This record gives sequence, C-alpha cells and structure tokens, in this order.
Amino acid sequence: MHTEEDCLFCRIVAGTVPSTKVFENSTTYAFKDVHPQAKVHVLVVPKKHYADVHELAESDPAELADIISVAQHIADEEYHGHFRLEFNTGEDAGQSVFHVHAHVLTGEKLEE
Ligand code: C5P
Repeated sequence: MHTEEDCLFCRIVAGTVPSTKVFENSTTYAFKDVHPQAKVHVLVVPKKHYADVHELAESDPAELADIISVAQHIADEEYHGHFRLEFNTGEDAGQSVFHVHAHVLTGEKLEE
C-alpha cells in the first residue's frame, strides 16, 4: 500500500490519527467529517494515496466506482438512498486535503 508520511488521510487510514469509522473494506475507508455540513457528512477515501479525483480516475477507475458504491450504501442506511456527492478538486474549488475524498452528505433533506 502506497502511503505518504505527511498525508493526514493516509494517517487516518493507518489509524495513527483517530477518526470515527463508518465503513471499511480492503481498499476503501469511510469516516465522519469533523466539521459536518449536513446531518450525516462522511468522507470516503481510497486506502491508497491519490491526490485528487482526476488522478484516481486515471489510475484506478474501479476504486472510484467502489467509492460511489460505498456512498450509496451509506445513504441507503441513513436516508432512503438520497445523497449528495462532492469531490473538491484543486485549491480554488476548496480542496484542503490532497488525498482524494468524496464528501457524502445525507441524513436529511438538503438545501439546493
Ligand atoms: O474538500 P476538502 O479538502 O476541503 O475537505 C477536507 C475535509 O476534511 C473537511 O470537510 C474537514 O472538515 C475534514 N477533516 C476531517 N478530519 C480531519 C481533518 C479534516 O474530517 N482530521
């Protein structure tokens, strides 16, 4: 597994930084966002390090599909399958952690 020592989400996946896990399989990890923007706000990440969703899509499209399936699974459990999925990509779009992560927002009716 490729990890980056100074990457916060690699450290969360490795368990050296604590997180509240909501789902895990062999390639994907999901945990609660510490600053939730909805009733349920989960971050879904590949265990392997990719900087952003473009890099992930180029290198491992099956993992990108897995992330979307995990998001659906969370929404099925939390709010009859309805959810918003966001990949902030690049600083000007609000990306602050450069380990690709899907924001899954669900658990309530969301503002448009
Ligand atoms: O898309 P962006 O890179 O801004 O998202 C990073 C997210 O990681 C933020 O929503 C922030 O609240 C979350 N975060 C977290 N746990 C940390 C550090 C950041 O859930 N330890």
